[in-house]
Amino acid sequence: MGLLEQIKDAGIIGCGGAGFPTHAKLNCEVEYLLVNAAECEPLLRTDRYLMKHRPEDIIRAVEAVGQMTKAQKMFIGLKETYTDEIASLQKAISSLKSPVKLFPLHNYYPAGDEQALVCDITGRTVPPAGIPLNVGAVVSNVASMIGISEAMNDTPFTEKYLTVTGEVKEPIIVKAPIGTSVKSCIEAAGGSLISDYHILIGGPMMGKLYKKEELDSLYVTKTTSGVVIVKNDSALVQGKEFPLERAMRMARVSCIQCQYCTEMCPRFLIGHPLSPHKIMRSVAYSENLEETMKLQAVKEALTCSECGLCEVYACPMMLSPRKVNQMLKAEYRKQGIRYQRTQDSYSAREQRDYRRVNSHRLAMRLDVEAYYDYDIDKLVELAPDEVHISVAQHIGAPGEIQVQVGDSVNKGDLLGKIPENALSANTHCSINGTVTAIDKNMITIKKA
Ligand code: SF4
Ligand code: SF4
Repeated sequence: MGLLEQIKDAGIIGCGGAGFPTHAKLNCEVEYLLVNAAECEPLLRTDRYLMKHRPEDIIRAVEAVGQMTKAQKMFIGLKETYTDEIASLQKAISSLKSPVKLFPLHNYYPAGDEQALVCDITGRTVPPAGIPLNVGAVVSNVASMIGISEAMNDTPFTEKYLTVTGEVKEPIIVKAPIGTSVKSCIEAAGGSLISDYHILIGGPMMGKLYKKEELDSLYVTKTTSGVVIVKNDSALVQGKEFPLERAMRMARVSCIQCQYCTEMCPRFLIGHPLSPHKIMRSVAYSENLEETMKLQAVKEALTCSECGLCEVYACPMMLSPRKVNQMLKAEYRKQGIRYQRTQDSYSAREQRDYRRVNSHRLAMRLDVEAYYDYDIDKLVELAPDEVHISVAQHIGAPGEIQVQVGDSVNKGDLLGKIPENALSANTHCSINGTVTAIDKNMITIKKA
């Protein structure tokens, strides 16, 4: 069996973001294979743990994927501040005599944005609404490389490494079977230090916020990279919960058109025409949103990555171009309107080099600086009695369910199978046990 089939069979998907099936992404030939190890969310340490503790697995997988995609150049992009991780990977590269190279990046947010990474390493700009393949590159995450190294031994993707941090007794890295409750991950970190809190799944910039009352319904998926406990009154919680209607009202009365949101926008800086200050002006003063949405400057909202830098860092008036763009994107999607490019080629703006926002300063602005310098290197492996596994953890069609209530299942058994000719991913069982419930796409398995 070829590597692409092994990756497909194992159910590997992008580990930090939306969960694009990796076999579909890597079914290409490229000049550059880029491995994203920048872990740009300020508080997460998962990728750093993997680079320190499983460097040879990473390098072997990068090399194998490089051969498969006929990549002429293979780079792992990671921050220049990751001294131990660089040393660990460099040692593995030397001992394996590998052609894989490391590419040190500045410690800025969002260094791990796929398009920023392509721009940093290749000097090329992915066109707006495009993909790295448009400029001869493919990007995969370092955690996906761990999954691929296991797929090379025909082991499916059933366990996930994630960071548990914030207001917990002892910040840790957890290795959890997919479907483990988030609650048990928090307990493994000694529990929360505060009684009232919010839970952030992912990092503080792009992660999803949940109320404490929702904790019992949260489970580890293939894309869970972190669990962060945050105080209810933190700037982070207040910013994320700020209602759109209020954000729009505030934009109308408070936007001073200073353009900082545009000048610091990572997509603007790589050369895209996205100018959030123009969108704010057009939308805030619009009397007819439908007409306003026909303007090209407003349609550029479709290329916003929702990185949040404009909202958290750039705007002196505490406005949220990100929320406005999210609203516009949803509206365009509803109307079936897709982005049309207006230029043949794009290149990074000169000011990009000195407009980068340092990750530490960002953590201060987010009110999470207290957790920024945690050196998280302790691993706790969980063995839950029950898991809740969705067959729709990825982009594309849900997997076709292969089991019934009452079936005995073993770790590695197929639960959700890729439907014929669909973009999808396989999902496997993560513990030995019995299927006790199936609710839509969610399968519950109790330990035997
Ligand atoms: S940074 Fe804020 S105040 Fe300045 S143009 Fe952008 S939205 Fe308006
Ligand atoms: S969220 Fe703001 S800073 Fe980020 S890409 Fe969108 S407009 Fe630019």
